[in-house]
Amino acid sequence: MPRRIRLVYSKDYAVDIGNHVFPTSKYNRIRERLLKESPFRNDIEIVTPDAACEKDVLAVHEPAYLDKLKKGTLNKDEILRLELPYSRELVRASLICCGGTILAARIAMEDKIGIHIGGGFHHAFPDHGEGFCVLNDIAISISCMINNNIIKKALIIDCDLHQGNGTASIFTSRPDVFTFSIHQENNYPFFKPRSTLDIGLHDRASDKEYLKALYENVPKIISSFKPEFLLYVAGADPYKEDRIGGLALTKEGLRKRDVFIYSQAKSYSLPVAVVLAGGYAINEEDTVDIHYNTVVSGLSEFYPPSQNTTGVSPWMNATRCFGGCHAEAGRRIPPPLDLRSKSGGGKERDHGRKPVGFHAN
Ligand SMILES: [Zn+2]
Repeated sequence: MPRRIRLVYSKDYAVDIGNHVFPTSKYNRIRERLLKESPFRNDIEIVTPDAACEKDVLAVHEPAYLDKLKKGTLNKDEILRLELPYSRELVRASLICCGGTILAARIAMEDKIGIHIGGGFHHAFPDHGEGFCVLNDIAISISCMINNNIIKKALIIDCDLHQGNGTASIFTSRPDVFTFSIHQENNYPFFKPRSTLDIGLHDRASDKEYLKALYENVPKIISSFKPEFLLYVAGADPYKEDRIGGLALTKEGLRKRDVFIYSQAKSYSLPVAVVLAGGYAINEEDTVDIHYNTVVSGLSEFYPPSQNTTGVSPWMNATRCFGGCHAEAGRRIPPPLDLRSKSGGGKERDHGRKPVGFHAN
């Protein structure tokens, strides 16, 4: 019996942003590779998220900012700060991406790991986007879970090369969310709002230095903070051949990083949701490799070869948020939903719903 391993992805993430350092094509390339050559290819089911609902987005972002995004009324400075060309497709993709990270969190609560082939837009603030990040899917997902009483405390481990300034700012003075960012100190963002714990590494820091910092800090954070949920921001840009990064990690070092985070989650029985975040290698194939390894390492940790998945709850077929849309706010276990379709391994499932929360006017 094939196992059912759900990975979250949307073809709409491949937004045309012109000649840009951010390769929006990477998501599809990762998906294709996973379905073609990963050891889990026969068990993978790609699930397509809906756009996050407005209520969940507004739990983090200012209504005026969301309104500008939807109406296309960002001013020139706001678009410059975003460092992406504005389009309705971009906004739509960003809203779907937020739905995707919420969905990955739901899957993590059910299956212990939920992987989003997307997400990780940690530079988005409540009232503006910056650094290629329109909406902060990380903060939206965590807020959604806490606001719906799914969890009380969450840990965000942000291993993207860049400091998670938006996420740090959103959760500043929030005792129920621990934000940990390990990044290159001498890089964007040049003003770094304080995370609960920041580790700023020097230029060209190696695998050894990077891993040492993780090994020393992550177990201490988990054992003292006692989170109920982990969101892992698995950026590929600490790679030594990244075009905008200045650390010097190898692919093997990044693989060890991933394996360590997963092993920590597993040993503390922490459900883990994974988002991919940045990756701008000189050779795009390297970025795809690193993200692919992140997914395969996670699945290998939580779906060892002998394990068979049974008894998947039907409510997990939902593609929407924890609260409001399908579940009563405050319920720990959302009510069952009908099984609309049950596809086999390696298939894609798109519920064909129109995204909510985006109004093209
Ligand atoms: Zn980055």
